[in-house]
Amino acid sequence: KKTNHNRTYDQSEAYYREACEYIVGGVNSPSRSYKAVGGGTPVFIKRAEGAYLWDVDGNRYIDYLGAFGPIITGHAHPHITQAIAEQAAKGTLYGTPTPLEVKFAKMLREAIPSLEKIRFVNSGTEAVMTTIRVARAYTNRTKIIKFAGCYHGHSDLVLVAAGSGPSTLGIPDSAGIPHSIAQEVITVPFNDLASFEEAITTWGEEVAAVLVEPIVGNFGIVMPEPGFLEEVHRLAHQKGALIIYDEVITAFRFTYGGAQNILQLEPDMTAMGKIIGGGTPIGAYGGKKAIMEQVAPLGPAYQAGTMAGNPLSLAAGIACLEVLQEKGTYAYLDRLGQKLEEGIHQLAQQFSIPVTINRFKGALTVYFGVDQVKNYEDAAKSDDRLFATFFKGMLKQGINLAPSKYEAWFLTIRHTDQDVEDTLQAVANTFKTLAAQ
Ligand code: PMP
Repeated sequence: KKTNHNRTYDQSEAYYREACEYIVGGVNSPSRSYKAVGGGTPVFIKRAEGAYLWDVDGNRYIDYLGAFGPIITGHAHPHITQAIAEQAAKGTLYGTPTPLEVKFAKMLREAIPSLEKIRFVNSGTEAVMTTIRVARAYTNRTKIIKFAGCYHGHSDLVLVAAGSGPSTLGIPDSAGIPHSIAQEVITVPFNDLASFEEAITTWGEEVAAVLVEPIVGNFGIVMPEPGFLEEVHRLAHQKGALIIYDEVITAFRFTYGGAQNILQLEPDMTAMGKIIGGGTPIGAYGGKKAIMEQVAPLGPAYQAGTMAGNPLSLAAGIACLEVLQEKGTYAYLDRLGQKLEEGIHQLAQQFSIPVTINRFKGALTVYFGVDQVKNYEDAAKSDDRLFATFFKGMLKQGINLAPSKYEAWFLTIRHTDQDVEDTLQAVANTFKTLAAQ
């Protein structure tokens, strides 16, 4: 198969130059820049359908970015597009309760029973931020424990990563976060029970909640080791701390429900976003009734939103879940994921490229130059240069991946066997160049 598609990027380059004049850094979210892969012009997309994106220069891409997770039904799924159009014609925002929110809340609780009470917000960031506030209100404590490398949005409290020690008090990951706030955050390595036990023993009575991505998506796809989360639950509850699952990526990604359905564990609260908006802005949080009743107007914890539960997002979200309810959805994603994983493995062996692939169903991460990844530290050790070269090689052949070694490839129900085969051909070509370097 032809390797050089002679792609040009003149239009993207022109847009990027102009974007940089008006928009800070030329992007509206830093992860969209190519900074983590050595720089370059990000491709500007003007259209998407199914598994494909088209950029402003007319280049087509098989898309595995999935908009960083929300896109699981493929782009512009007709059922979702129609639901949005129909709702738009009836008005986009009323500032009143609507039947849609009742319907959607019911659907979510049916899928994820721990969501006894729910609130809709507009982003994953908001959802997580509010679960923490509610947990603090409920427990009358201030500290949280989180796991190194887990991303929970850009609110002050969670924008804290680990130091290198096993159990460190937070150091802010961003300028503009007061040290006093970061001090309320304890970070421990994922899958490291001893460190967690040390942290919860040391700070136990001050900890309002333990916040965790039950299946990690933010240093690539990383599964909890057997028994790890069970012990986290047990030890946290023993100290009176709540468990918050950040299911912003995982809700409806692996099954019709959350990672909690798969792991058979019940958190006290859950934050969601991404997929439940069917590709429109959304967030939601919920949990046990007694805890959620802390939220205004019932309780003293305040959270509000002009756009919260907006009809467009809910119409899209309901339509998306309806698509996902179709029989065989998750088995299909798993099968394609397996095909991709096995194919990449085989090619890695053939071309002697050192890779580790972490996959769960239709999501996977290819790490270069490491033997295993079970926490952030492992992922951080993976090879930046190999990844960057791989990313750019794939892009040139029409495969759009996330421009960071810490992200996942997301399959959609619109990817086909042929798409996966074409992708593997691109992988083969890229590995060949890597091997020759
Ligand atoms: N939590 C997790 C696990 C996420 O992956 C993200 C976004 N990548 C967020 C929270 C924040 O969501 P949003 O970008 O919608 O604010």
